[in-house]
Amino acid sequence: MLTTLKRIVQEVNQIPGLEPALARLAMLVRETMKVDSCSIYLADYKNQVLVLKATDGLDKTAINQVKIGFNEGLIGLVGQREEPLNIENAPLHPRFKHYPEVNEDAFFAFIGTPIIHQRKLLGVMSMQQKSIRRFSEDEEAFLVTLATQIGLEIANAEIRGVLDVNSETTIDTHKSINGVPGAPGLALGQAVVLNMKHELSQLIVRKTTDQQKEVERYRQAVELTRTQVASLSDNLGDSLPEDVKAIFQLYEQLLDANSLGREVEQKIRECWDAASSLKLVVDSYAARFAAMEDPYMQERAVDIIDLSNRILHNIMNGSGSPINTDTNIPQNAILVAREVSAPMLAEFPAGKLKAIVSIQGSNNSHAAILARAMGVPAVMGLGGVPLSLLNHQELFVDGYSGQVVLAPEEYARTEFLQLIAEEEALHQRIESEAEQPAKTEDGCEMTLLVNAGLSANLEMEQNKQGAGVGLYRTEIPFMLRERFPSEQEQFELYHSLLSAHPDKEMTMRTLDVGGDKPLSYFPISEENPFLGWRGIRLTLDHPEIFLVQVRAMLRASIGLTNLHILLPMVSTISEIDEANRLIKQAFHEVKEEAVKTNKVLFKPAIGVMLEVPAVIFQLEQIAKKVDFFSVGTNDLTQYLLAVDRNNSRVAQLYSSYHPSVLIALNQIVQTSNFCKIPVTVCGELAGEPSGALILIAMGYRKLSMNAHSLRKINWVIRNVAICELEALLPQILSCSGPDQVKEIVDQYLEIRGLGGLVRAGS
Ligand code: PEP
Ligand code: MG
Repeated sequence: MLTTLKRIVQEVNQIPGLEPALARLAMLVRETMKVDSCSIYLADYKNQVLVLKATDGLDKTAINQVKIGFNEGLIGLVGQREEPLNIENAPLHPRFKHYPEVNEDAFFAFIGTPIIHQRKLLGVMSMQQKSIRRFSEDEEAFLVTLATQIGLEIANAEIRGVLDVNSETTIDTHKSINGVPGAPGLALGQAVVLNMKHELSQLIVRKTTDQQKEVERYRQAVELTRTQVASLSDNLGDSLPEDVKAIFQLYEQLLDANSLGREVEQKIRECWDAASSLKLVVDSYAARFAAMEDPYMQERAVDIIDLSNRILHNIMNGSGSPINTDTNIPQNAILVAREVSAPMLAEFPAGKLKAIVSIQGSNNSHAAILARAMGVPAVMGLGGVPLSLLNHQELFVDGYSGQVVLAPEEYARTEFLQLIAEEEALHQRIESEAEQPAKTEDGCEMTLLVNAGLSANLEMEQNKQGAGVGLYRTEIPFMLRERFPSEQEQFELYHSLLSAHPDKEMTMRTLDVGGDKPLSYFPISEENPFLGWRGIRLTLDHPEIFLVQVRAMLRASIGLTNLHILLPMVSTISEIDEANRLIKQAFHEVKEEAVKTNKVLFKPAIGVMLEVPAVIFQLEQIAKKVDFFSVGTNDLTQYLLAVDRNNSRVAQLYSSYHPSVLIALNQIVQTSNFCKIPVTVCGELAGEPSGALILIAMGYRKLSMNAHSLRKINWVIRNVAICELEALLPQILSCSGPDQVKEIVDQYLEIRGLGGLVRAGS
């Protein structure tokens, strides 16, 4: 049964256009189940009816004509109850309604099941038989299972249907597709689909007799590609962080003769021509990467394929760019590709690029990292949407929510343009006050810090008036390398940051890998990575990694007083004791070295991340062992609510505005104040206008956030009054759910004239 189901689902998924897909589905079900008819009705919410969209067995002329009210007939009943209905003799059922158009007089047995996707009824699928009988449990189970699997395919097919000009669909389908937010921002523009002129995947392999000539051909093509890639990275200009440019160094390494080259030349010696040899080697490389469990490494397959297609273009003596594009790229272009690669971005005319949409990929993709650094909105991982149907379409891209709206209708367009204009206007206003202090109207001063990772110095640049770095995610430079960075490499990185801002606090978190942050060169395979070996748990088990890092931090702080060390994922006091012991050991070693050169090493402040709920109940004890706390609301929310922060299926349950999370945060600030220990919030909540206001109301005075949120939060703080926020707090803490909390704060933002922030996807 499973194989049959899979085959049906796969086949239907490959058919572009809603109606042909559904027609095929009905036919396959009728054939497979040996029933007399199978029909599919889809919900039209505007008119509150279920419309017959496909049938195999009933009168096909009734398609699109028969519309059954949500509370009419057996089909309506299945939709209403949202459960299967299995009836021996349908005409005798009190809810039976005769629809002469479908010509079903000869049918008696009826089974119907709802098609539901993401809690929404999409339609009803039914089977009918001419005999009087009850469908067997197996038949019922098949239909129910098929309907659950087909829900997603229908949701996707509906999207395709919207774009399919031949489709006669009249249903008000949702025209928006949900992907993963890759880079924040809003854009409305015209899709420009890019693909490579030569693709290894299309190549038919061939043998050669002139191996020497093929080796030469390959080497020349690699040299040419090397120059092209170097000039691409120059195209990106000087404004990008060095770490982002490091993406191109990966290409350099792959082009190195000792990497791909050696294996390709070996294949040429086996008498394959240059292009075929490249294909044979790359196919096996890409398959190995794609099969890796961790998503970051899977993404590297994209880099290898992109690079190899560029080499192939040069082997084939291709002229100009290896990418096929329209010669007329519009001013408001949205770059769309199956896998947007970093070089594609670099090659695109910068002034025309309004947004990026990548059918595959995640926010780990290099394209997403680059888009964030370039300030271009991006949506990744749109799933089964055919590229050809997107080309030249108008798209609205919401990089905050990960939503892409296709060919928006006039009223929606107007709304989107308004949103974009609001975002722009807001941006201007926020910019104009960026250098002003973060002080509420009634004089409450806030300290705003930056969360850094990619390039801390650049991120600090965006926060000139800011008080420093509240969270330096040291794992990001670790993730961008192919091996653990040495103590000297780490020292240089940390020293450049500490010495560039000697009067500002710099909070460096020790390595927080594991969970969703893998290192390619330190693979961890676990059933439950978020509850597994991550953060301090891993580094305490590997004191050599921890000590090298802490030594590098301490060496970097010789003669300086601004180093703060932060410990991630702490869940027990013994972890703090052990980390303190190791830090003390490293401190004495580095101090000895400093003394020899007549330099001073100051004791760094040591802090603990509050992100595992257990520590909330031991705060008073922990406060005696460290110098400060930093609340990680991202993980605290995930662990308090038992909701994976990266799982889109449960994304609607993940909210830091859940009253239980807020009550925990309130308790943390109160206990911290009681213990007189400084506390910062460094999770995403601190960088959201509503979140920041709630935290201020509770009594938090230090917030650390992404550089791009800083100015906005600064501006919000300058336009509110602490006394008003404090008055709202009891109401917020007694809400029953996140929506009510958001409503209260949004209302306040509206009253204060800051409603644009809510509308512009803040
Ligand atoms: C957090 O968990 O809130 C946090 C800031 O850390 P990260 O997002 O890096 O896990
Ligand atoms: Mg965390």
